[in-house]
Amino acid sequence: MSQCNKATITVRNGIEADKHHGAVVPPLYLSTTYSFADFNVKRQYDYGRSGNPNRDILADTLAQLEGGAKGIITATGMAAVHLVTQLLSHDDTLVIPHDCYGGSYRLFTSLAKRGLLRLQVVDLTKPENYAAVIAAKPKLIWIETPSNPILRLTDIKAMVTLAKECGALLAADNTFLSPGLQNPLQFGVDIVVHSTTKYINGHSDVVGGAVIAKSKELGEELAWWANNIGITGAPFDSYLTLRGLRTLNVRLKQHQENALAIAQYLEASPFVKKVYYPGLPSHPQHELAKQQQRGFGGMVSFDIQGGLNDAAAFLTSLTHFSLAESLGGVESLICHPATMTHAGMEASARVAAGVGDTLIRISVGIEDVKDLLNDLQQAFERVKPGQVTPVVKSATTAKETAPAASASADNSQSFAPAIPALW
Ligand SMILES: *Cc1c(COP(=O)(O)O)cnc(C)c1O
Repeated sequence: MSQCNKATITVRNGIEADKHHGAVVPPLYLSTTYSFADFNVKRQYDYGRSGNPNRDILADTLAQLEGGAKGIITATGMAAVHLVTQLLSHDDTLVIPHDCYGGSYRLFTSLAKRGLLRLQVVDLTKPENYAAVIAAKPKLIWIETPSNPILRLTDIKAMVTLAKECGALLAADNTFLSPGLQNPLQFGVDIVVHSTTKYINGHSDVVGGAVIAKSKELGEELAWWANNIGITGAPFDSYLTLRGLRTLNVRLKQHQENALAIAQYLEASPFVKKVYYPGLPSHPQHELAKQQQRGFGGMVSFDIQGGLNDAAAFLTSLTHFSLAESLGGVESLICHPATMTHAGMEASARVAAGVGDTLIRISVGIEDVKDLLNDLQQAFERVKPGQVTPVVKSATTAKETAPAASASADNSQSFAPAIPALW
């Protein structure tokens, strides 16, 4: 199907492939084992960890959507991230951005602590840091764009040039935009990673991951490792994820339309300090977003006025936004990264990544946006952020307000001082 347009591949790949009964939707194969056709004559499949038809259709569809030679479906997004690290030996260096997904950051730093790889954490959005990357002679450079949670973009073309100069492989976590809105392989990236838990499945009911390699050789090496360490995705999960994927394009349209309306509303609100959404002309990388993305996605983050108490009161005053981690489902979710998704990060690293106590992240769903806007409005009116507790302006004032904030903090290290200017 690779000559078709992406929306058609998304909907039709694997449709009517059933040779037995002509089932339009590929049947679910739960069997863990497959009989040999004859003595020493293996069929296409032999054992469920090594291969499964449902997993293969999902892998093939995602590989086509990303423009890669081979896809591998893993049990979780973190398994996909971990799989890519199998390409490294203990004396190989991995360069990662300082603000990558919290779970990836935790995995990379713990592998490095055990001596399984060497790690260099770099702000890859700053060209003045490229020399340090070259000097580290990395085997693999990891990027995530836009980043979680403050939606900073990394220039993919610049990273491809940098990786070439280092003789390094380049991997991109494309979870936040999905193959519907960004295809890093087309710029020369070698490996794309997804948490399919997010937009690809899109219904918050399957945890899964995918790795897509640009070249067949790299894809086969990664597939060999996935089978070897036993992290391949389950058949039923693959079936459900493919079902979710079928509607990716229409979902993305609504996610984006709603996200832009919410970002514009928040930007105009007196209760908001700052909005992070690449679709706003005020986003410092709006132009870069237009160059390397086909849309701006459904994630919006913002700093609320006031401090931790205001954030907590606001988050618990909403009815149409579930206070929950994760993203990319049809329903709107809202989260407080400092105490939720990024709680595992050391306070200093978190603050350097722009994750302060007032940061709020929304995964904008596909509900009627008028209801979402009304809900935000009533919560702001009720809490009046910044007007009850003093606005935290600097590290000094943050310390002064910390005792009051501690009552509702999950994590005693979460009194992040002022958010550094990262742009
Ligand atoms: C969720 C996420 C992951 C991890 O995926 P899981 O499916 O939760 O294991 C990795 N990267 C990004 C950007 C994510 O959002």
